[in-house]
Amino acid sequence: MAQQHIHCSVNNCHYWQNGNKCMANEIVVVSDDFGAQQPDYVDASLAQQIAPTPAENCMQTCCKTFVHKNSSQIKADKVYRTQ
Ligand code: SF4
Repeated sequence: MAQQHIHCSVNNCHYWQNGNKCMANEIVVVSDDFGAQQPDYVDASLAQQIAPTPAENCMQTCCKTFVHKNSSQIKADKVYRTQ
């Protein structure tokens, strides 16, 4: 099976790599409203416990895994860079 990639242009994220690749081992996408309410530790490792968060269009969704590359919160969840 071909390797799959998440493509992302948010280049100040800790998980971003040249070529607009996301190098996180996993990510979680949620609605903007839900993402804004949740602490940093609520992330991909807890995805199975997150209730559905519907959205009407792409602008209402967000990558909850985003963390600024200079943030002190990089280790707040269990997500890691694969390389
Ligand atoms: S974690 Fe999210 S915001 Fe960061 S590079 Fe991956 S897809 Fe983009």
